[in-house]
Amino acid sequence: MYKALLIEKDGGPYRASIQQLDDDNLPEGDVTVKVDYSTINYKDGLAITGKAPVVRKFPLVAGIDFAGTVEASSHPSWKAGDKVVLNGWGVGETHSGGLAQRARVKGDWLVALPESLSTRQAMAIGTAGYTAMLCVMALQGHGLKPDSGDILVTGANGGVGGVAISLLSKLGYRVIASTGRPQEADALKALGAAEIIARDELSAPGKPMGKERWAGVVDSVGSHTLANACAGTKYRGAVAACGLAQGMDFPASVAPFILRGVTLYGIDSVMAPKELRQQAWQRLGKDLDLAKLDGMVREIPLAAAIDAGAEILAGRVRGRLVVNVNA
Ligand code: NDP
Repeated sequence: MYKALLIEKDGGPYRASIQQLDDDNLPEGDVTVKVDYSTINYKDGLAITGKAPVVRKFPLVAGIDFAGTVEASSHPSWKAGDKVVLNGWGVGETHSGGLAQRARVKGDWLVALPESLSTRQAMAIGTAGYTAMLCVMALQGHGLKPDSGDILVTGANGGVGGVAISLLSKLGYRVIASTGRPQEADALKALGAAEIIARDELSAPGKPMGKERWAGVVDSVGSHTLANACAGTKYRGAVAACGLAQGMDFPASVAPFILRGVTLYGIDSVMAPKELRQQAWQRLGKDLDLAKLDGMVREIPLAAAIDAGAEILAGRVRGRLVVNVNA
């Protein structure tokens, strides 16, 4: 038997509860993992509350990521005892997920945990932090270097935002953090932000092009914020767009793209190819200041994950929520 956060809908309203399941409930897969930690990402909040149709098969265990130890494997890459991490691939959406003490998945979906990280640290990073790394890699792949100019990070107090600030500052970039929670300015500066700007500066409808303020952007907010972020990007700069905390719309002008040669990179973590994931996790294992990461983490037991889903959607979570599924 194992404990899991189960989402049900059939024969009643959409509901989330902690249940004891037996192994017959494990989905198909060639690797069974004893989960140590999962997390609450924004998408988990949507899944747990049912505010968006993230879960598309019922009943289903929630949780888009987990870190743990392989218990049994018929996949050639994995054996019992291996430490692994999983992000995305539809886990927690169409395949039962990580908010559980046990998970069964395809071995091809797993990434080896870098030796420098514990399973708890891996989930302190979580899908939010791994996505932040994908954004940073896109900006670096574009050729942006610390002397290219500042990097704007929106949704700064969120999971993606916080890890992006920490990564970028350790790599030597000067970071401008945009936040709706100025009372958290000291925490953002401790993570490595050099300058804090108010969310309102970017979240209202703006001009097609503005003053050139930053060379690159990590945006987890979307909507007008993303449009204004593009409008303020320097000549031949780059914007990595990964989120929609403000909205899924993109009310922008083509002006920054065709007049300033700005590039907009779309960042998807769910179906990202395996090589890119392995690279991202290896880099997280060496480029992230783990002491700073620790400062942005709150650990909760599985029983608290249901309330935490509503909290993250309400924008009341700062940093990262790690779920100890065995507590
Ligand atoms: P969080 O809730 O931790 O962070 C989102 C942050 O956005 C908040 O902390 C807040 O920052 C800011 N924010 C919230 N509401 C608004 C609003 N109405 N207008 C402007 N800013 C707002 O979420 P995550 O960091 O986990 O995820 C961020 C986004 O990235 C989500 O939309 C998520 O779905 C997406 N995402 C996408 C992935 C992909 O594969 N593309 C993978 C992971 C996440 P502050 O208080 O500082 O203003």
